[in-house]
Amino acid sequence: MGTVTALSGGPDGGVAVGVVSCDDVVAWLRRFAVVVAERRDELTELDAAIGDADHGVNLDRGLRAVVAKLDEEPPGSGDLGAVLKTVGMTLVSTVGGAAGPLYGTLFLRMGAAAGAAGELSLAGWTAALEAGLAGVQARGKAEPGDKTMVDALQPAVRALRDAEAAGAPLAEALTASAAAAEGGARATIPLVARKGRASYLGERSAGHQDPGATSSWLLLQAAADACHCAPGA
Ligand code: ADP
Ligand code: MG
Repeated sequence: MGTVTALSGGPDGGVAVGVVSCDDVVAWLRRFAVVVAERRDELTELDAAIGDADHGVNLDRGLRAVVAKLDEEPPGSGDLGAVLKTVGMTLVSTVGGAAGPLYGTLFLRMGAAAGAAGELSLAGWTAALEAGLAGVQARGKAEPGDKTMVDALQPAVRALRDAEAAGAPLAEALTASAAAAEGGARATIPLVARKGRASYLGERSAGHQDPGATSSWLLLQAAADACHCAPGA
C-alpha cells in the first residue's frame, strides 16, 4: 500500500489521480489575481531594484481585466483552451512592458496545447505548461540562468515531468511544481541579468530576486492552491 504506482488508476478502476477542470482553471486565475493584488507592492519593489518599478502594477492591472472578463462572460464547463486563450489575449492587450506579451504568450500557448479539452490530466497540464514555457522562450529568447521568469517556469515544468514519471497524483505534482518554481525564483538572487530591462544594469543586477520569476512562482503556487484535483470523469 502507499506506493505511487498503486495510485495510477484509469477510468476502469483504481484510484483516480485527479484532473484540472475548467472550473479549476478559472479558480486558478482568480487566485493568481488575488495574490498579485496582495503582493503588488512587493513585486513592484523587486522591479524597482533592477527595473522600472512597474511589474506589480502591470500584472495587477492585467489580472483585474482578466477577472472582469471572467465575470462578464463566465466560461461554461467545457472549453478550457478557450478560457486560457481569452486570458492570454486580455493580458497582451492590458499589460505593458515585457511581462504582458510574455505572460500573454504563456497563456495563449497553454490554451492551444489544451485544445478543446474539458479537463486536463497531469500529463495534459504538464504538456500545456511546457508549451507555454516554449512560447515564452521563443518570444523572449531567455535561457535558464538569464534571471527571468524562465528561471521559475523551467524547474516547475521539470518537477511536473518528474512527478508524472513517478506516477504521482496531480495535487502532489502541482505542489512539487510550485516548490520548484519558488526555488527557481529564489535562485535568481545571485544571477546577473542577461535579458530584459535588468540586463542594462549588468553586474549590479546581482543580489536581487527577479520580479518576473517571483510572479511566475506565485502563478504556480496559485495553481497548487486553487485546483481541486477531483477524480476525472
Ligand atoms: P518591463 O521590464 O518592460 O518593465 P515588467 O517589469 O512587467 O516589464 O516585467 C519584468 C520581468 O519580465 C522581468 O523580471 C523578467 O522576469 C521578465 N522578462 C523580461 N525580459 C524577458 C525575456 N526576454 N524573457 C523572459 N522574461 C523576461
Ligand atoms: Mg518593469
